[in-house]
Amino acid sequence: MVECKRCLYTSDHPLGITFNDDGICSGCLIHEEKDSLDWDSRLTDLKKLISQYRSSKSKYDCIVPVSGSRDSYFILHTVINTLKLKPLVVSYNKYFNTNIGIQNLANLRIKFNVDFQIKNVNPNTVKKITRKSLYQFGNPYWHCIAGETVFPVQTAVMMKIPLIIWGAHQGLEQTGMFSHLHNVEMSRRYRKDHDLFGHDTDNFITDFDDLDDEDMLNYKYPAFSDIESVGVRGIYLGNFIRWDTYAQHKKMVEMYGYKGAKFSRTFDAYDNADSFVYSDLHDILKLYKHGYSKVTDQACREIRFGRISKKNAMKIVNFYERQMPNFIDLFSDWLGTNNHSLQFALNRHRNEKYWEQSDPDIWHFKKSKNIVLKPQLRNLTYPNSNDIVNKHSKNKYITIGKGVDWPKKKSNKKITWI
Ligand SMILES: [Zn+2]
Repeated sequence: MVECKRCLYTSDHPLGITFNDDGICSGCLIHEEKDSLDWDSRLTDLKKLISQYRSSKSKYDCIVPVSGSRDSYFILHTVINTLKLKPLVVSYNKYFNTNIGIQNLANLRIKFNVDFQIKNVNPNTVKKITRKSLYQFGNPYWHCIAGETVFPVQTAVMMKIPLIIWGAHQGLEQTGMFSHLHNVEMSRRYRKDHDLFGHDTDNFITDFDDLDDEDMLNYKYPAFSDIESVGVRGIYLGNFIRWDTYAQHKKMVEMYGYKGAKFSRTFDAYDNADSFVYSDLHDILKLYKHGYSKVTDQACREIRFGRISKKNAMKIVNFYERQMPNFIDLFSDWLGTNNHSLQFALNRHRNEKYWEQSDPDIWHFKKSKNIVLKPQLRNLTYPNSNDIVNKHSKNKYITIGKGVDWPKKKSNKKITWI
């Protein structure tokens, strides 16, 4: 196993990573482009590209997929204010929604004043799919990733809106799979191979499952011919704008009141504020299967931007990846199982490269020892990030949020009715 001399990634990275003769990983090398490319000229290229989609006849110029976190505000802000496009905003309901995520989504609709479509798949179908993806692939998040990546494409085909605008490309940002200059676009192939780890609707179900083709329809990528007839393409803003998710989120807090959320297993309060599962159960499974957690991705990103040293990043990662998840109970309740059965299922996915079993149900992480983390090691601040653990009432998944429970400023204005 090779470890990058600059960041914390190793040759074990599941998305694939390469190293140069100096031992620097492809992700770090591609990151250097952020400081060498002419971003003004890249933005001009983007404006040229989108000009063909600006329509005076249609109500919408493009589709923008959003959630209650992860760059959604910045993408929409760029599309509306920098590119001057008229977007149709779409969102897939992942059902693991936090109160903060629902508030962010409601606030987004109000502040950007946009038309919004949300996809709510029948929760019984979602549970059946999640049972299967969790037990078989060790992935409770398959339906979320599959839904988020397909609903915008289905909408594009159905409403004949050919342009979809995404934020950053994960393969480019993390492992340097592409250069910014490749202008990589959305593809069916990348979605299946990397986003869904090879499990798409065409090979998801077997004869032994209680799922049928109809259950999978909501997650099925449109036919080649349909995509071609509308001319659907998905572009990534990260190819044209110097992408810095931390700095962008801070700006969105100031401009629109975006809210972050604190979770036990990461220092990053902005990335996945909308989900009880992503930084929690899903993250523990990442550690079981791949030997590292989301906090490693986030720490690598911050090393590359020069905001954390590699030495401190290692301490930060060692601390957070050892923390307990807080919301396993919520997931067990939602899925209709209990923690013991769930843990049994999760243990099946522990990779013995990283985990050692001493007794039944007793596992040891081989990698590192737990350490105490001094708060001053973290140079990053997360304004407007809220404690996701609600100490005053029971935490629960919010299925659908109709509005926003925003603190209202007191007004001294008298209301006159006529
Ligand atoms: Zn690296």
